[in-house]
Amino acid sequence: MSRIIGIDLGTTNTCVAVLDERGVPRVVASPEGERTTPSVVAWNERAEVLVGVPARRQAVTNPAGTIYGIKRLIGRKVNADDVSWFARSAPFRIVAAPNGDAWVRVAGDGTSPQEICSHVLARMRAVAEAEVGEPVTRAVVTVPAYFDEAQRQATKDAGTIAGLDVIRILNEPTAAALAYGAHRVKDGRRIIAVFDLGGGTFDISIMAVESGIFEVLATGGDSALGGEDWDRRLIERLADEVFDAHRVDLLSQPMAISRLKEACEAAKKALSADKETWLRLPFLAQDGRGEPINLERRLTRDEVETVTHDLLDRLEAPTVRALADARLAAGDVEEVLLVGGMTRWPAVQALVERLFGRKPSKGANPDEVVAMGAAAYAGILAGEADDAALLDVTPHDIGIKVGDSQFSVIIPRNSMLPVRARKLFATTQPDQKFVSIELYQGESDDVTKNRKLGQVTLDGLPPGPPGSVRVELSLTIDVESILAVTARELKSGQQAAVTIRPSGGLSHREIVEIITRRREEEGNRAVARTPTEHSQVSRVPTSRDLPRLDPELGTVGKGGREED
Ligand code: AMP
Repeated sequence: MSRIIGIDLGTTNTCVAVLDERGVPRVVASPEGERTTPSVVAWNERAEVLVGVPARRQAVTNPAGTIYGIKRLIGRKVNADDVSWFARSAPFRIVAAPNGDAWVRVAGDGTSPQEICSHVLARMRAVAEAEVGEPVTRAVVTVPAYFDEAQRQATKDAGTIAGLDVIRILNEPTAAALAYGAHRVKDGRRIIAVFDLGGGTFDISIMAVESGIFEVLATGGDSALGGEDWDRRLIERLADEVFDAHRVDLLSQPMAISRLKEACEAAKKALSADKETWLRLPFLAQDGRGEPINLERRLTRDEVETVTHDLLDRLEAPTVRALADARLAAGDVEEVLLVGGMTRWPAVQALVERLFGRKPSKGANPDEVVAMGAAAYAGILAGEADDAALLDVTPHDIGIKVGDSQFSVIIPRNSMLPVRARKLFATTQPDQKFVSIELYQGESDDVTKNRKLGQVTLDGLPPGPPGSVRVELSLTIDVESILAVTARELKSGQQAAVTIRPSGGLSHREIVEIITRRREEEGNRAVARTPTEHSQVSRVPTSRDLPRLDPELGTVGKGGREED
């Protein structure tokens, strides 16, 4: 069996780790010496795909063809609030796929986030293969704990397109705790919090660690909050200043947005160490008379804190709620582990210290700890590393629609996996022929605000007065978060079952088509390519590399994948 690699597929950066000969996780650097790779994919004028640093380097001259933050779109509908928000600020076009999924327009065509992410995953695969000297076909890939089923499945599909069998999707905070615990767990039960603020997402997890067992007690967070929001605030502040001075809207000029974005992120990083820095952007745009606009400005940490204080405030409520869900007080937490580059920001560290009443741990590298945990878990799955069990929880309430639009919770969020719950229904009409049960996930009492997962219908019910026929609904979620639902009529034992696949996403056929097309494109380009160009183009899987695709699982009524 080939080696299993661990990949932290981040909003901003992606990191790959493998286990060394002693079973210890080790981050693999790219041939250019980078330990993390920017999660940026670009299409240049020759329609070649650039990934990572080369893609980010040409962003300024090719803003509409340089895709970043794609993790915000994977498995999402185009009309979701935070997707619309992202679409307003991104210099590339976000479009609706026929099924309502958010796609990106690349070189004139709609392209799925799965395909874009697959280029990053293929790059990480190539980096790992160069290190271990053998083909790699299996991976553990991490996602934010708040990712729902659609986002998890889309991430798996991205792996498939990259020629990787994603054998487990692991929550990022769980991976971080595993990496941390694998090195340092002491005797007895310890309560730890994993505070993860990356480029695009915030996750807080409260965990118990005991004898190599990691138990997630509660998770919370905000899937639309991260370091990029801090950058955006600075970009908007500077764009406002330029507008006031010159009546020029920089936000409508993709080249200016790209340059501002790069400069603002660099300034923010500098200000996490220093109290002040300088922004220098000559020839940023032209004013109404054709004169150049040169931006030169001193920026202080205080100023950044002032324009971002509400973002900082948004970290508090999910943290408090996660503690309450775990039925713990802040003082019960014995250690707080920081994950994600944005936790280097001093105000974030000060907030963590205030919320938990203790200084967060500084031992782990916040950019690498998640990939290390993924590799450690890969080792456990492959039987290479010490035994450790991971107990995970459901991130959302799961329930059914009752009445016109009410939501009745059957499995509450933070239930430990695997979990099973049953509910009895009685018919409400005389001689009722069937029952149809709609399943949802989310936190709202109003079912229309939650995400529909699917529907199970049981027909051919025996005749009888209202209430005489009873149907038992059974919901099971396995350790991989796959939901299976069975409806059974109690007298006859007749039943209908459904395994829930997320709505939207790519079909099996679409995934195979992308792989075939990519292989053909790669074949065509290989003829004309120079050696230097080759090193920048991501590797495309050959038929030998393709992992087995899961058969399509039917859903009641519509078959295949449900549409919203
Ligand atoms: P991640 O998704 O974990 O790679 O986190 C990336 C985010 O962390 C980006 O928004 C970076 O701008 C931010 N970041 C990285 N290093 C620093 C730093 N030294 N100070 C502030 N933010 C940082």
